[in-house]
Amino acid sequence: MNIEFKNNIASFNSLDEQLSILSTDPKSDKIYKRDRLLLIEKAEAMGRNAAKNIISDSAWKENPTLVQYIEDMGIKIIHEDKDFLVKDIRYCAEIYPKKKSIYLYDRAIKKWARDQGYNVETAETFILAHEFYHYIEFTNNNFASNLYSTPIIKIRRVEIGKSGIMKLSEIAGNAFAYELF
Ligand SMILES: [Zn+2]
Repeated sequence: MNIEFKNNIASFNSLDEQLSILSTDPKSDKIYKRDRLLLIEKAEAMGRNAAKNIISDSAWKENPTLVQYIEDMGIKIIHEDKDFLVKDIRYCAEIYPKKKSIYLYDRAIKKWARDQGYNVETAETFILAHEFYHYIEFTNNNFASNLYSTPIIKIRRVEIGKSGIMKLSEIAGNAFAYELF
């Protein structure tokens, strides 16, 4: 897309940022330190590969904007004029793949843009691209969060159930957004 956009969001793709995102995962303390860099690399590669698939799609080349590309896939982008805070975490967007919809929360995006020092257009494009990655991982049933799994319960030596590291999907989503433009 444009270099200015890429420069603006570059900090979201830096290793420091990715490490700090991973460290906010409630289960990050269960990941060995030596595994963290490798996991970040793998998550970023998943995001980048998903972006490359789109870049090589003829429909991407024909479409002037991400919004139009997504809408041409039959996915609705729905704007809601609301802020969405849950326990101090601001949600700017959500996916509803079963309804073929991506929701953007305009007031949340404006506040996030202000906090990050971005203009609203840059923030919205970045958030939509990131969210579109979540939509793709859902429809492909291939989640970056499953790159690493920790037992849900461990009784003596028996592990019962597995759950992934959600923040790996966030890292992949940021790498996707960066690669796409
Ligand atoms: Zn996300």
